[in-house]
Amino acid sequence: MTTRNDPPSLPSTTQTVHAGERRFRSHNSLTVPIVQTSVYTFDTTSDLVNYFDERMFWDEVEREEYGRYGNPTVRAVEAKLAALEGADDAVLLSSGMAAVTNTLLLLLSQGDHLILTDDCYHQSREFCQNFLPRLGIDCTVVPCGDCDALEAAIRPTTRLLYTESPTNPFMRCVDYETVVAIAKRHNLLTVVDSTFATPVNCRPLDYGIDLVIHSLTKYLGGHNDLMAGAVLGSYQQTTRLRQAQGMLGSIADPHGAYLMLRGIKTLGLRMAQHNANGLAIARFLEDHPKVRSVWYPGLESHPDHALAKATMQGFGGVVSFEIDGDGALAHRFIDALKIPHIGPSLGGVETMVSPLAIMGYAELPEEERLALGIRDELVRFCCGVEATEDLLADLGQALATI
Ligand code: PLP
Repeated sequence: MTTRNDPPSLPSTTQTVHAGERRFRSHNSLTVPIVQTSVYTFDTTSDLVNYFDERMFWDEVEREEYGRYGNPTVRAVEAKLAALEGADDAVLLSSGMAAVTNTLLLLLSQGDHLILTDDCYHQSREFCQNFLPRLGIDCTVVPCGDCDALEAAIRPTTRLLYTESPTNPFMRCVDYETVVAIAKRHNLLTVVDSTFATPVNCRPLDYGIDLVIHSLTKYLGGHNDLMAGAVLGSYQQTTRLRQAQGMLGSIADPHGAYLMLRGIKTLGLRMAQHNANGLAIARFLEDHPKVRSVWYPGLESHPDHALAKATMQGFGGVVSFEIDGDGALAHRFIDALKIPHIGPSLGGVETMVSPLAIMGYAELPEEERLALGIRDELVRFCCGVEATEDLLADLGQALATI
């Protein structure tokens, strides 16, 4: 088992290109073909009988039956993701939120209780706090990083701990060793949304976390051109999830899967640039007189710096900061930027800037939003892979205008 003192060897660029890929393909094609079909046919009824017999005994059957139960292009993405994350297997779903909701619906039942750490993607929180209670599933939110609060929140009915790391938007990092120890003491499942880390920066399963979730819409897809999610873990858990997916219908499509395979091949290269940009920009902003605070785990001032340094290969491309002024000043600064797009996502090759108070959190009452720390002047800057000096120059000129 990986510990802070014995960090894992994380995937290299060789692995992001080759991991999980089979060499033999139809027509000797180098790339995985897009198998665009909803139906797979059988030559004879005995082929059909053999297919079901085989499925009873083998994890991996060489053919499919119906599009909602499997697709070879989708399966290739799952194999690649599992190899990179160090999981037995992966299930690919239609979006990151499909991965979150399907997993929690599968693992929790009426009367159960889950613990969620704060500072997480707002729709995940909404699902846990306002949707699951309709099904008789209770949720307690505890501050991310406060393991005493987490343990104190455990009830006899608690089944699951759910967290993100690094978190969105304050980049808090979770101490997996401690969380896993607590979970083991109380016989709880642990689920981590590791979208902000990717397997290149950290692999929670190596620390004993049960299930990892990714939104492939972000770094893994990497080009702002697809939506997908994945859940990774043991065969037992992924098999149950795959069966539920066949019923819930939250499948990824073959065209998107092809784009994912293409995107993941350059994940190692892209993450190196996201990490370099994130760190350089966080340092620049921290020293700038027009910036009040910066949240980036690569900075010594971040509360989880020591933990992040010990457990992460890099700290990612997301830097959150507050302009030293009000929301109007922050908007003037954002409008003066020339390279980033104003938008709600992250992890793509293009830099994205989000004024979170009016994007993502706009529908929340002001009081609730402020309680989450989302002030008007908070800016989430999600570095793409552009040249560091160009992004720094752009930030510098935009800050000079306010
Ligand atoms: N998890 C995190 C950390 C996210 O930031 C997001 C979206 O921003 C999601 C999950 C949801 O992913 P998707 O947009 O692919 O449904």
